[in-house]
Amino acid sequence: MISIVIPIYNEAETIPLLYNRLSAVLPALKDKCEIVFVDDGSHDESLTIMNHYANENNAIRVLKLSRNFGHQAAISAGLKYASGDAVVIMDGDLQDPPEELPRFLEKWREGFDVVYAIREKRKEGIFKRMAYRSFYRILDLVSDIEIPLDSGDFCVLDRKVVNVLNNELPENIRFVRGLRSYAGFRQIGLKYERHGRSAGQVKYTLKKLIKLALDGIFGFTLLPLKMATYSGLFVAVSSLAIGLVFLMARFFNFPILGAHVQDVPGFTTLAVGGFFLGGIILLFMGILGEYMGRIYIEVKQRPQYIVEQVIENKQPSASYNEIYDK
Ligand code: UDP
Ligand code: MG
Repeated sequence: MISIVIPIYNEAETIPLLYNRLSAVLPALKDKCEIVFVDDGSHDESLTIMNHYANENNAIRVLKLSRNFGHQAAISAGLKYASGDAVVIMDGDLQDPPEELPRFLEKWREGFDVVYAIREKRKEGIFKRMAYRSFYRILDLVSDIEIPLDSGDFCVLDRKVVNVLNNELPENIRFVRGLRSYAGFRQIGLKYERHGRSAGQVKYTLKKLIKLALDGIFGFTLLPLKMATYSGLFVAVSSLAIGLVFLMARFFNFPILGAHVQDVPGFTTLAVGGFFLGGIILLFMGILGEYMGRIYIEVKQRPQYIVEQVIENKQPSASYNEIYDK
């Protein structure tokens, strides 16, 4: 069986379109299919529409979270509830076209455990495209594991990998595409053209995007912490060298920048040095804070999400290859 996990946050305009396009693709797959819609605390008509589909098609399950927990948490919830031998993760706004599924699943049948999508063209604004590009390159530069460039969450995961994500990686702050790389197994990336949103507004606010980026960076590298050590070392060594020059200037009485050490009150040097060091110290205190905050969140062990209700129809009905008649 193949499960398709789709996080939904206020997508009332796109769900019918999404449902129709999936319904055109899934019956041809010959596998049993289920769709797991995760309602991430929508406050439009999304839930009503999804419930309607769940009632008429028993291949549809709806997982209602108790509030908006965010895209990554919604995906994690869906992964927990999906029961397929392969699990597809895709967005609910049709930016990941369902028509690509046969091609991706083919690779999975060939024996790949993770088939992830590489976004080849983006239909987003220039600013957003540039931000994404630089983010993935920075992440690649600093992260301890290899996270493929320009790969989003759209992917097919084998049951083995889903089990690892569900059971072996219980961390609270989830950057799913990073965890997916961390899991290992046989992975392959397929290029695809990322379409524009079919309808509605982007649900990722700038704040949510920045959070995602920081989770990606701080979750997968200790480099920012090490930078404190490196720059501390750099400042210490260079000030030692400068100090030696000043000492020599004092004893052998040669001028530095046209003035003799004795005559210069040294206010500027001290002020600049003080501000500079203060800035560096504050910067690294901020970085320490980022890690400490994350440790605090993990230590509290709060759930990643709370499921309020599962909506499914177990009566036989028109469905993707009669899922509950096994
Ligand atoms: N989404 C969600 N919870 C959120 C934000 C977004 O479940 O808090 C869903 C949204 O409904 C969509 C997917 O995550 O199906 C991707 O969101 P969006 O298209 O807004 O972001 P993009 O990745 O395209 O920038
Ligand atoms: Mg989108």
